[in-house]
Amino acid sequence: MNRPAMLRCDVAIAGGGMVGLSLAAALAELPLDVVVVEPVAAEADEQPSFDSRTTALAAGSRRVLEGVGAWAGIAVQATPIRKIHVSERGVFGFARLTAAEQGVTALGYTIENRLLGQALRRRCGTAARLVHCPAGVQDVVPGEDTARLVTDQGQQIAARLVVAADGARSRVRSACGIEATVSDYDQHAVVAHVETERFHEYTAYERFTPSGPIAVLPITEGRCAIVWTLGPEAARRALGLPDAVFIDELQQAFGLRLGRFTRVGRRQSYPLALTRSDKQSAPRAVIIGNAAQGLHPVAGQGFNLGLRDVATLAEVLADEIGEQGVAADPGAARVIERYTGWRQPDRNAVIRFTDALVRGFGNPFGPLRAARASGLLLFDLFGPAKREFARRTMGMAGPLPRLVRGLPLVVTRPATDRPVQA
Ligand SMILES: Cc1cc2nc3c(=O)[nH]c(=O)nc-3n(C[C@H](O)[C@H](O)[C@H](O)COP(=O)(O)OP(=O)(O)OC[C@H]3O[C@@H](n4cnc5c(N)ncnc54)[C@H](O)[C@@H]3O)c2cc1C
Repeated sequence: MNRPAMLRCDVAIAGGGMVGLSLAAALAELPLDVVVVEPVAAEADEQPSFDSRTTALAAGSRRVLEGVGAWAGIAVQATPIRKIHVSERGVFGFARLTAAEQGVTALGYTIENRLLGQALRRRCGTAARLVHCPAGVQDVVPGEDTARLVTDQGQQIAARLVVAADGARSRVRSACGIEATVSDYDQHAVVAHVETERFHEYTAYERFTPSGPIAVLPITEGRCAIVWTLGPEAARRALGLPDAVFIDELQQAFGLRLGRFTRVGRRQSYPLALTRSDKQSAPRAVIIGNAAQGLHPVAGQGFNLGLRDVATLAEVLADEIGEQGVAADPGAARVIERYTGWRQPDRNAVIRFTDALVRGFGNPFGPLRAARASGLLLFDLFGPAKREFARRTMGMAGPLPRLVRGLPLVVTRPATDRPVQA
């Protein structure tokens, strides 16, 4: 059998899931040859990224999706979040955050992963980028000017920059010689769509319970999406319960804020761990999205953080092209260093914040519970703390890349400002 010819490109993205395809969409605007390698078609039932989950998008993520041309494809199905309500079962006190108070129309949006996948695929399709599917990256061979990807279909792809966006168990990350630290939370997230007696009024609820947090998110047609964190055995049991019993138990854990739960759809569960890549880069390679940091879904931060990886990497590459013109090298060490240096503080802050929420609210010790109750009440009354929390929740904290600020990716400089090519 003939070996396929070596394919050459500027940027090879391993993983065409939520983060990888978002990056491909962002790079579509730049004069770069981009290849995406993905083992599972975006529309396939078994696609692990674009499945039946619902994602809460921060307001900043909406801007990024607008900037990369994917928002128009999901705007009609996206549900705005106008209020966030945080409480703890059996504890007096709660905290609220409202869009009106923060002077915005929505704190964020919810969207089904599958719909987001369709919109991103359409966007990448129209930009005529090459998607190798089905094909998974098996190995990465480093080199001076390019890194070479080897796929399980025998294809070799030489890229000036390799981007690992192949999820928390990233093969590309380990092929680049980078270790990851994994802390198992010993919890699973059970997800489903539910119908409720009362309309959600565009409110997202986060309720902490002794078994773990329950998120109830507003979605289309007046329904809600739940993410219920349970121990592994309880999660397995919850998947097999008759609908009526599942609804009863959910009701007891969540309470009556939305009246009675009247229906539940198909349930699925996901094991939860904090996976943290020890480094975010190797020569001619960067690690982004879940491959760099896989988080607990408690505060809905994982994809939002990954999308800021995308916006930052796209900006660093756009600036390199703006400054160097045809001589630009997307995998140059200075490009990679600028990217990793910029991402570090946001990444560390979000990992700390998410992990502290899981561990802090998971502690049943009496005085800590009392402190949490007074903390929630104080937070509810204290403007500056709320504003800071809102900035984080909306994905607007720290030095933000242009796409998150709603600005174009490519800066058009005045002619006199342009570097002169020899
Ligand atoms: C229950 C739950 C609820 C969540 N809710 C939210 C939320 O509300 N808001 C939020 O921001 N985040 C949320 N998240 C997190 C979010 O889903 C992830 O952060 C996001 O999916 C990360 O996308 P990714 O593309 O980096 O990785 P993945 O989604 O894991 O995609 C990886 C892709 O790489 C492909 N791949 C695998 N191996 C290879 C290989 N060898 N070569 C090439 N490709 C490969 C896979 O097929 C897949 O398409 C939630 C997570 C869970 C579990």
